[in-house]
Amino acid sequence: MALLREPLLAAARSPKLRTVAEKSRLTRPVVDRFVAGATEPDALRVTDELIGNGLYVTLDFLGEATTSLEQAGSTVRAYESVLVELAKAGSAERAEVSVKLSAIGQSLPGNGEKIALDGARRICEAAAAAGTTVTVDMEDHTTTDSTLGIVRELRADFPWVGAVLQAYLKRTEADCREFATAGSRIRLCKGAYAEPESVAFQGEAVEDSYRRCLGVLLAGEGYPMVASHDPAMIAAARSLAVRNSRTSDSFEFQMLFGIRPDEQRAIAAAGHRMRVYVPYGDEWYGYFMRRLAERPANLTFFLRSLTSK
Ligand code: FAD
Repeated sequence: MALLREPLLAAARSPKLRTVAEKSRLTRPVVDRFVAGATEPDALRVTDELIGNGLYVTLDFLGEATTSLEQAGSTVRAYESVLVELAKAGSAERAEVSVKLSAIGQSLPGNGEKIALDGARRICEAAAAAGTTVTVDMEDHTTTDSTLGIVRELRADFPWVGAVLQAYLKRTEADCREFATAGSRIRLCKGAYAEPESVAFQGEAVEDSYRRCLGVLLAGEGYPMVASHDPAMIAAARSLAVRNSRTSDSFEFQMLFGIRPDEQRAIAAAGHRMRVYVPYGDEWYGYFMRRLAERPANLTFFLRSLTSK
């Protein structure tokens, strides 16, 4: 099954396959296992349900690798709108947003970084007005320096902006040291892209790195966000939290919508903060294909939906 990871991640980057899949109505029911729905009301309904179950939420308006200024602007407006609605619904205390900088223009030629920074600032202003936070997602390794640079700039005005660090990158332990400072919100994940050995650990070495990074973050002064479905990583975080006398409001666990929902509720019931990453919108293809690559067993489920009436 591991052999399928590379082709699935390559397919995740194919615009042609993306168009075919996104246009097929048959795929939607399967995609809905991992995605809250196509619209903002879908996202708000799922947010409400999760909060009702004692969970926290981070909403992701789906999209990545935006190719036009117009599309980048409309993604920023979608975030501004959902943040207003979260505040109106009284959910902002438990629900924030996650943003991919490539969805708001980072890879546009010329001044893409500036466009993404300006868009991210607008989203942060909307989050501040709503009384919640923003976490900046991390994409492939060619964007890490640019993304962390933008996070540093945003933090000058909005110190609560969260960043994601990926344990599979060899640089990440050092990045954890830089970012484990007071007030710093860091989501640690294994990493979801196909990365070369020159920059990334492979296989079990990723888990060793995750444990080392957890050690740095939980011993540090910041607010670690432990994003993993892996029971071994969760157990490691729990024991490091005890060793470092962490209170339950000084770190949190995070999982993706639709993955191990029973465990999400069990971790919350045990007195921990558990935040669910909830994607919504039409541009589900890249996100969904990365979930298939993590667990090719999901592929059978997906293919069956394409062939059934
Ligand atoms: P794995 O070893 O992949 O999984 C452990 C167990 O979890 C599996 O045995 C299985 O039981 C279950 N599981 C895992 N994935 C699936 C799946 N797709 N379907 C069904 N069961 C599954 N990556 C980035 O590169 N950048 C980001 O910004 C980013 N943000 C994230 C935010 C959150 C909140 C989370 C939870 C993950 C994020 N990721 C991100 C993805 C992450 O990098 C991993 O690819 C993903 O979480 C799988 O790794 P794992 O630690 O869960 O362990």
